[in-house]
Amino acid sequence: MRKRFLCSYDRIELVISYICNMQCLNCDAMVPQALSKESMTLEQIERFIQESIEKRIFWQHIRVLGGEPTLHKNILEILAALIKYKEFHSPNTKIQLVTNGYGKIVKKILLKIPKQVEIENSEKSSNLQPTFSPINQAPIDMPEYSNSDFTKACWIPALCGITLDMHGYYPCSAAAAIDRVFGFDLGKKELPTVQYATLEEMFANFCKLCGHYYDKINNLAVNDISNKEERSKFENLHKEKFLETQKDSVLLESIVSPVWKNAFKAYKIKKPVLSKY
Ligand code: SF4
Ligand code: SF4
Repeated sequence: MRKRFLCSYDRIELVISYICNMQCLNCDAMVPQALSKESMTLEQIERFIQESIEKRIFWQHIRVLGGEPTLHKNILEILAALIKYKEFHSPNTKIQLVTNGYGKIVKKILLKIPKQVEIENSEKSSNLQPTFSPINQAPIDMPEYSNSDFTKACWIPALCGITLDMHGYYPCSAAAAIDRVFGFDLGKKELPTVQYATLEEMFANFCKLCGHYYDKINNLAVNDISNKEERSKFENLHKEKFLETQKDSVLLESIVSPVWKNAFKAYKIKKPVLSKY
């Protein structure tokens, strides 16, 4: 039976912008599917850092992503603020920048990234991404998954950690992107901690719409991923087996199921306005 995945409240992804210089098919930030110029402000990043210090959270990693994060007009200031947090409050935190590495502008900015930041460069050169999940194929539109227990979630919030975008905290970056298209406006405005964990409440709303729900790697979990020990075991399994689980799922087209078709149609007519973090 499928196991349950809980959020890791000691890891976080910051979606600082939904602007990107690529238009990948099945992008799970929904960049080309639902265009948006929204970005986090430097003040929001400072508030996140302040909350982290006040709540004594010593992040294992802070991953800065988008969209394409290097295109954020304040990217160097954002990284400088995160490095300051690391140096003064949490020396073991890894600050990571996730980039597509594509184009002259991105490459030029990458040369300026401080050495304290680890760069994770996917070196994309095409909008075709065969290893992506069919993010817009909603499980509720698929007879074999329509009655699943969506509160069990998937591996992403357990390994990547929680997410913050300009609308608040979410269990994962896919949920943040789903929210901006559907307009549920569920982003939490205060940093949740493991003692007051509330982000799992959102799985019922988001996972039924998300094509990561049926990633094959989820089926390899032997126990519920609900503590650090189980997470560590599953993380090793993930490293070892992820590519193998992907080899029969080559994605060469954009897949959009009925619930998503309607959502994108509505988004084009009137983009939802979500409250800010
Ligand atoms: S580079 Fe990343 S954010 Fe940009 S469109 Fe492709 S998958 Fe989406
Ligand atoms: S919304 Fe998608 S990525 Fe997030 S936990 Fe649910 S299935 Fe996983």
